[in-house]
Amino acid sequence: MSQRTARAAVYDAPNAPFVIREFPLRDVHPDEVLVKVSMSTICRSDIHSYHGLRHNPCPGILGHEIIGVIDQLGAEIKRDMRGDTLAVGDRITWTEYFHHGESYYRDIHDMPQKSNGVRKYGHDLAAEDPHFLGGFAEYCYVLPGTGILKLPDELSDEEATPINCGVATMVAVTEATRIGLGDVVAIQGLGLLGLYGCAMAKSRGARLVIGIDSVADRLELAKKFGADVTIDITERDEDDVVAEIRALAPPDGVDAVIEVCGIPGVIPAGLKMLRVGGRYTLGGIVSADANVTIDANMFVKKWITLKGVHNYHPRHLIQALDFVVANRGRYPFKDIVDSTFKLEELGEAFRSASDCSVMRAAVVP
Ligand SMILES: [Zn+2]
Repeated sequence: MSQRTARAAVYDAPNAPFVIREFPLRDVHPDEVLVKVSMSTICRSDIHSYHGLRHNPCPGILGHEIIGVIDQLGAEIKRDMRGDTLAVGDRITWTEYFHHGESYYRDIHDMPQKSNGVRKYGHDLAAEDPHFLGGFAEYCYVLPGTGILKLPDELSDEEATPINCGVATMVAVTEATRIGLGDVVAIQGLGLLGLYGCAMAKSRGARLVIGIDSVADRLELAKKFGADVTIDITERDEDDVVAEIRALAPPDGVDAVIEVCGIPGVIPAGLKMLRVGGRYTLGGIVSADANVTIDANMFVKKWITLKGVHNYHPRHLIQALDFVVANRGRYPFKDIVDSTFKLEELGEAFRSASDCSVMRAAVVP
């Protein structure tokens, strides 16, 4: 029996300081994996949870964009989602959510992430066994119903860590948008999701990718990720921006708009950018009470298809990994994770991520 303990950065209530606490590490059950965390990155939804915009049990360990090395492998777990054998010492990523047992949404509607009773890493009580279910800790247990994927050695930790949330979500979003050859695509928000969105839109055949944001560094970076044109909306009139974007997509506007900025106020402008028959996908509006006034007549007269996408199917995690491996020479994915903090510096890391002074903050415990 192991009698080990390990450290985690815990918060007791929204906005309360992170404190380092020790919890016991127990041996794995046959259907579990214990992972030594190599790196976790701070996702926008971690920030929402920390600020209390999203309910999260406390005391909690945040962090769901995690990779790590297998420390203990349950006897029943032999292979990853793709059929590769798993062994102690392998570096892995895994789905940000887990669920096992019956699931109406998984089995009937192909939406496992919407299974009743689904649980997510970084959204659990630290006080209860197995304590370690979040990324901002030295260890994390991977529980039954999680899709596990072995990481190839060629990927750096910086390239691999965001794959299981931001990148996989963007695979789901760009798939739902049905981006095809020759499309003109506008992307609202050039954080991690938007940057990957630019690169994926290009890979899916877009003729022109337009990146929209108000942060100068992000607009600059987007050009390295496949954005053909970037539009700075700082202090600009909405109608002006819409007119400029529509002029880039003659004769009648863009084929598709993707929202990944999390600001509901951008939706009316996005709708106006679209041509008749255009597609609009919302991927960033994850907090409740995102109220906005829309002229619903536009949906009818312009034949607009509006979709929302939340999280992803396990197949999207496989596609996300393959996309990063295949395109890492073409796009500087490693540059997105642009700062590294220790576990003790998690508060500072959250402040830097919150005020957008860093793109993706990494924590190396
Ligand atoms: Zn996330």
